[in-house]
Amino acid sequence: MKQTADILFFNAIVLTMNKQLKQYEPGAVAVKDTKIAAVGTQEEILADWDAVERVDCEGRVLMPGLINAHTHIPMTLLRGLADDLRLDVWLMGYCMPVERKFVSPDFVRLGTRLGCAEMIRSGVTTYADMYYFEDDIADETAKIGMRALLGESILMFPSPDSDSPYEALEYTRKFIENWKDHPLITPVVSPHAPYTNTEETLQLCAKLALEYDVPLHTHIAETAIEVENMRREREMPVVPYVKKQDVLKPKSIAAHCVHIDEGEMHTLLHANTGVAHNPSSNLKLASGLAPIPKMVELGLNVGIGTDGTASNNDLDMFEEMRLAAFVGKISTNDPTSLPADITLLMATRIGAQALHIGEKTGSLEPGKQADMILVDLNRVHNAPRFHRDIKGIYAQIVYAGKASDVTDVLVDGKWLMRDQQLLTIDEAAVLEEARVYAEKVDAFLTVREKSVLSKLIAIGGASEEESYEVQAKVSVDDIQPILDALHKPGITINYKRHYKEYDNYMMFEDPDQGSIRFREDHFVDDNGQVTHVRSRLTHIGQTREHHFPQKVILNRSRYLAPANQSLRFYREYFKPTTEKEVNKVRLRFLITFEKEEFYINLDTVLKPSLGQFLEVKSRTWSNRDAEEKAKLISKLIAFLGAAPEKTQVEDYVEML
Ligand SMILES: [Zn+2]
Repeated sequence: MKQTADILFFNAIVLTMNKQLKQYEPGAVAVKDTKIAAVGTQEEILADWDAVERVDCEGRVLMPGLINAHTHIPMTLLRGLADDLRLDVWLMGYCMPVERKFVSPDFVRLGTRLGCAEMIRSGVTTYADMYYFEDDIADETAKIGMRALLGESILMFPSPDSDSPYEALEYTRKFIENWKDHPLITPVVSPHAPYTNTEETLQLCAKLALEYDVPLHTHIAETAIEVENMRREREMPVVPYVKKQDVLKPKSIAAHCVHIDEGEMHTLLHANTGVAHNPSSNLKLASGLAPIPKMVELGLNVGIGTDGTASNNDLDMFEEMRLAAFVGKISTNDPTSLPADITLLMATRIGAQALHIGEKTGSLEPGKQADMILVDLNRVHNAPRFHRDIKGIYAQIVYAGKASDVTDVLVDGKWLMRDQQLLTIDEAAVLEEARVYAEKVDAFLTVREKSVLSKLIAIGGASEEESYEVQAKVSVDDIQPILDALHKPGITINYKRHYKEYDNYMMFEDPDQGSIRFREDHFVDDNGQVTHVRSRLTHIGQTREHHFPQKVILNRSRYLAPANQSLRFYREYFKPTTEKEVNKVRLRFLITFEKEEFYINLDTVLKPSLGQFLEVKSRTWSNRDAEEKAKLISKLIAFLGAAPEKTQVEDYVEML
């Protein structure tokens, strides 16, 4: 008597992607409940099985669903927001400010629906994600019916839904409790990256993953700079560093691994770490060519991922497979590297193994979950078909197949797409909602981009400081007599500093925008050695000046922020129309003269070469006593023996 299945697929080219790469043509697959019950030739399966639902595959390929091993799914809503930028400018300048403003449960749910719709259309049945509000992403994904490994990003900075890594860890613990027994969702622990975490938070992440025996998903060695910094700060490359923090002890998944050496590959292999290769992202961000063929040769489980849409810009796994193969070939200069069958394995069975769910999905084998897709190869871009080489079909899929060739998708025995119609997502509604969101983000960024100051505030850390100063600047031939005069009775030196100042002024077409000054102070000790460097960013607004003889009262609004990024970053972010560079050696004193405190700066301006200056500033000032202070400054200048009649160098003053 025949056994009864729920769905019986027949008249298919069945690619099992199992260890033997077994194919059946014509082949058939029986699905019972959520699992694959039988796989084989059409003749044997139809002889043994019957089903309520019989699917004539009409000669299409029936294969395991694709595994997207690394993405940030809600970022689909930020697709095309800002492109052709360096990673830091894009991330700190655009992505994070927008995320701070917009990312909410609502945002991630919509982004998940949009991303899942795209992925189902490209034959993806499982994806690995790292983002915020992951509980909402899980809920939405479960409703849609896709399989996923989901992890809340844990990083040492405040995020859209956590003020600290400890909060994110607590969130993750609850998240794991909520989802650990779900048939589709595998909760994971996701420290964002070693450089966005501390040793402690990495260790806590590893501990949590081990406690619940869930995978740990992180970014590893994506850029050369990351490795350079790690070597400088920790005296070791990234993989040994994370190993030291126990990050490889749980079932770990390392996204990228672009810049790792063979020793590190062995470490990952021994730890059974899965690697997620993201060729589009590595190419678009010019991160480099990951040494994937070597990893595959050593036996590492390497999956393929799209990464977030910001660095791709789509979630098309067919394109990703094709690029993975091509990048593999160019990275070794060898066209036999990463052949099509291996590449397709990376996107299916090996990808599932990389995510530590290889026992559940990734191949068409009895006992595995029924995650499968139908692909129509009978299209003009994929005709004709040759039968001589049995591996030809993998080349057809990897090199000539397109996402739009996927016609049907089944996950856990349930249909998500039939005849290219999505069954669990209202595509038209998602498109409309995404359009409305984009309008809001557009409006927000349009306003921000109009003002240099709001751009500064958007990257964080800026605080306003209104400064009123009465100051005089006098050019001097030699500062030594003034230095001597500072020790005369009548002056008390409260403190002294010696530093070299490197200033870059960025100016804009509209002078009302003010200017941005990037300042690096190199503090010098008594032996002439630089002890430390401080970088600051200042937005200098419009200045109101009142001139007294040789003295100027300045009243201006400044925004100060620590300059955490490089000058190159700020240049690319603010896009100034002109720049000026000023380098000077400064001796700075805080003194008391006639019961009032003054700053005395003795500057040697090296670039442009303007000579030496004495600058005197009152420490406090109010509208009321400005004139009095100005008089006292004149007295002090005379006391120091500088010639008060010497005029200011306008150019220099302008730049202050
Ligand atoms: Zn990523």
